[in-house]
Amino acid sequence: MDHAPVLPVSRAEMDALGWNRCDVVIVSGDAYVDHPSFGAALIGRYLESLGYRVGIIPQPDVVNVSDVLRLGVPRLFVGITSGVMDSMVSHYTSLHKPRSDDAYSPGGRPGKRPDRALLRYVNLVQRAMPGIPVVIGGIEASLRRFSHYDFWSDKVRKSILLDTKATVLVYGMGEKAVAEIAAALDGGRTPENVRGTVTYADAGRFGSLGMERYVELPSHEDVSGNPAAFMEMTRTIERESNPWCGSVLVQKADRRVVIAHPPAFPLSSREMDHVYGLPFSGVPHPSYREVIPAYEMIRNSITVVRGCAGGCSFCALGLHQGRFVSSRSPNSVIAEVGRLTRRKDFRGTVSDLGGPTANLYGLGCRNPDAMRSCRRNSCLYPDICVNFDTDHSEYVELLDRVSAVGGVRNVYISSGIRYDVAIRSRKFLEKLVRNHVPGYLKVAPEHFSASVLELMRKPHPGLWRRFKKLFDGIAGKTEKKIFIRPYLMAAFPGCTVAHAVEAARELEKEGLRPEAVQIFLPTPMTMATAMYHTGLHPETGEPLEVARKPSEKKRRLAVLLGRRSGRPRA
Ligand code: SF4
Repeated sequence: MDHAPVLPVSRAEMDALGWNRCDVVIVSGDAYVDHPSFGAALIGRYLESLGYRVGIIPQPDVVNVSDVLRLGVPRLFVGITSGVMDSMVSHYTSLHKPRSDDAYSPGGRPGKRPDRALLRYVNLVQRAMPGIPVVIGGIEASLRRFSHYDFWSDKVRKSILLDTKATVLVYGMGEKAVAEIAAALDGGRTPENVRGTVTYADAGRFGSLGMERYVELPSHEDVSGNPAAFMEMTRTIERESNPWCGSVLVQKADRRVVIAHPPAFPLSSREMDHVYGLPFSGVPHPSYREVIPAYEMIRNSITVVRGCAGGCSFCALGLHQGRFVSSRSPNSVIAEVGRLTRRKDFRGTVSDLGGPTANLYGLGCRNPDAMRSCRRNSCLYPDICVNFDTDHSEYVELLDRVSAVGGVRNVYISSGIRYDVAIRSRKFLEKLVRNHVPGYLKVAPEHFSASVLELMRKPHPGLWRRFKKLFDGIAGKTEKKIFIRPYLMAAFPGCTVAHAVEAARELEKEGLRPEAVQIFLPTPMTMATAMYHTGLHPETGEPLEVARKPSEKKRRLAVLLGRRSGRPRA
């Protein structure tokens, strides 16, 4: 066997594999589930496929240094992630209340990872293994790579790379960057100029690095005290996010300078097939005795697409994964479905064929020249770009092929869909409503006020109404009872009480019951968070009304819901 049945989490498992040392150890704030939806497993298995010996330390004890040493000191580096979510988002609601559960921990119990997990873990590793190269990644590192507004301390914090003093920060989806870093360290070289990474240097030494072309962001000191500079920084980061034409970005902070190389190129279909076809066991590490809720949610689902072209101003996942969509080939997806059907606990339902946005599978820019120089922050907003392919044939075919696999009785779409794109394909809508909706379809219009939607970069309410009419028309002709359950967001920056009234009226008029209503949570680095922090409109620089006090947020939530029973997902 050229791969481990599970990546080792203990000395005994290393011994069983005949290893005396790991090449790489990955420390993670999540439980270890050997499934590609979990970043530590994904990166670990990818490095394994390149010939490295990788061990995992899930949710280490941060008090006892010896716990993080349980696999010994690795030969090349320690990779550290706080987990699938930013640890502060995992732990606190938008009203600053501690969450009562943690879906990525055994038993769903909170408290298995510390607040500001990345800082704590790096500190732990640096104490336990002085001098070892430390590579930080995952969403907490990715979206805190420049100066950023931290909602939980109500402060602008500098790049987390400077706070942690890690060797290098990997942002976005990290396979290619981590592979380059491992190869450099394995060859005795310092990883340099790697796409999708951030490093830092003393400001006095920056000139000697010979960097000829770069864009300088306003310094940490500027953005900390000046809202307009903060907004300019956020706009520049967005503008430079295209891997084909984005620049090196630099930002001074104190006497140091953060250097962010352009993003990694998105994975090709063949690369996606390789990554998702790695020998994941597909289940939690056998040592766990309790259910891991996040695993229960995805155990029968298949990731078919990565990235989102939508560019919604509040979406941390879209920002992390990037605007350019990567899709797996149908054969790779069918092979995974085959493995799923052979599992003893499979009952015939594939719960999702999706990703950040399911119906963007197989879609993207059909004009390579335009794509390589594109500076838009969304392919879909304010209108669907003329170069964006909206032909759903590949996704429709994939749904058909997966439905025809022996042992599969139902194939559902549980990931979100872009309804502005979906209404361009009657065939897809017919299929979706007739065959792939488990009772109700979850969609995320997020609001119904045109002014708020513009700030969110979401489709105009007119498109929502068109989608709803088409959906209802098709659903009315089926024998099943099928409904739409919208996801909505309250207290978005710029959303006044009058806007909340507008949204409540739409719910009333359409007889809609929201699936969930989320109070806006300002996660690091999004444009929406820049609006929240600065109180400025991102294009005009005009002041925005922002609900900051919990009472103001709750009022907008209450107005939006009226007496309805939508469950707050704060
Ligand atoms: S040209 Fe249009 S479709 Fe292509 S990347 Fe830019 S916005 Fe997207």
